[in-house]
Amino acid sequence: MQYDCQTCGACCYGPEDYVTVVSTDRLRMRTQTQARYVEQRGDRAWLKMLHGHCAALRARQGHFSCRMYGERPNVCRVVTEGSRECLDARRRRGVVDG
Ligand code: SF4
Ligand code: SF4
Repeated sequence: MQYDCQTCGACCYGPEDYVTVVSTDRLRMRTQTQARYVEQRGDRAWLKMLHGHCAALRARQGHFSCRMYGERPNVCRVVTEGSRECLDARRRRGVVDG
């Protein structure tokens, strides 16, 4: 089965504490990227969420892309097309296979 991330975006939808940011993630993020997307709460940090999805997700007319793709955190990098996390996210969002 082939999955097209650009017509899906399902794994970028979730609750407020969905995308954890750790210190090693910050090393690859530019200062302005952190200022725009990272929310620090106490000693922990997450990516900001907006309308139920990561604030860095560009969702337009059924087309999805990541505004910080090269700088995205590790938790995003482990979600590859067809992985268990991918299939779970697609199921949650009701994305139809095929
Ligand atoms: S990894 Fe899977 S859930 Fe995430 S955008 Fe790609 S196809 Fe969709
Ligand atoms: S950083 Fe990019 S890949 Fe990760 S959840 Fe946000 S939009 Fe999706």
